[in-house]
Amino acid sequence: MQANPRSLDSLFNSQLRYVVPMFERLYVWRETPQWATLWEDVVEKADLQLAGTASNAHYLGALIIEGVRPNSPREVKRFLVIDGQQRLTTLQLLFCAYRDFARQNEWKTLDRATTRYLENADTDVMEHPEEEQFKVWPTTLNRNIFREIVAAGSREAVETRHPLIRLRRKRRPEPRSNLVEAYLYFAASRGEQPPEGVSRRYAHDEIKRAVQEETHGKCAYCESKVSHVYPGDVEHMKPKDVYRELTFDWSNLTHVCFKCNNAKRNHYDQQSPPVDPYIEDPGGFFIPVGPLVYPQLGNLRGERTIALVKLNRAHLIERRVERFETLKQLIQRLGAAPDQGTREFLLAELTEQVADDKEYAFVCRGLLETYGVP
Ligand SMILES: [Zn+2]
Repeated sequence: MQANPRSLDSLFNSQLRYVVPMFERLYVWRETPQWATLWEDVVEKADLQLAGTASNAHYLGALIIEGVRPNSPREVKRFLVIDGQQRLTTLQLLFCAYRDFARQNEWKTLDRATTRYLENADTDVMEHPEEEQFKVWPTTLNRNIFREIVAAGSREAVETRHPLIRLRRKRRPEPRSNLVEAYLYFAASRGEQPPEGVSRRYAHDEIKRAVQEETHGKCAYCESKVSHVYPGDVEHMKPKDVYRELTFDWSNLTHVCFKCNNAKRNHYDQQSPPVDPYIEDPGGFFIPVGPLVYPQLGNLRGERTIALVKLNRAHLIERRVERFETLKQLIQRLGAAPDQGTREFLLAELTEQVADDKEYAFVCRGLLETYGVP
């Protein structure tokens, strides 16, 4: 038995197959929570990579497999899947959606690389190529559909083979196999409109953009510009692991940088929930003290939010102080302004500097107040 961490590459990149025992249960994973959570994690890791931020590997959980003595020397090395068939199958469908996307765009290298994760090469020397060519071979009742999806080669082909069927007087279309839905879910998760029948993913670009506009591209908590400093995430004010039904509730979505998101992740105390900067006035909970944010005296929710989201983390203090330098120069010039015209110009500039769309506007306004700037 091996209990060491394996990368996806080492799992899928050699000539082998993972066979789900015949009488195992069917593939049952669904959009929520499993596909959505997996996809969200993939996107988060990819964003970190693209932003050049070192990111840890994503842990997919334990996989229990058992090597099987081959029936013939031609047989591709086979492992029985004792635990992990849902994950292995989901990964295959994700790769398959990705391969088809690469293929459609004629990205040949990516197409080849992903194909290697799905299929074993050299079918002509296999004992049973129709089965052994697949890296993962699902349980009996799932096999035909799985084979069809991998063989189809494009989202259109999969949809043609498995169209949505609407019966008369039924509001919802007939359910398709979870395998088909999983493939289509991942095929749609590239920012296009998801196919009919697959509900909108909450982090869909359009929603993300709208939320971003409402928060002026700033993190709703720490007021860092999210778009170019570090990647942001559509944040669920109430963690969606706890409040599933709220996943698609617009009012529960806001825009938060990944540092605040990570710090806050899944802490939600109904008695004393973190301040929701989206609908609550931060001034009612916090008070700016130089580059620091303090809770209003005796304000428990303010206090908890500061601790939870780490609103006084070193990086934030540094960046707030940097902003103060600009403001202090303007304030100094204002004090020494030779005439009314210059004074008005500098006041307008200062007002502009602490507008809602500016970084760290909350503490910056506090600074102006400290210096008695109207
Ligand atoms: Zn933040």
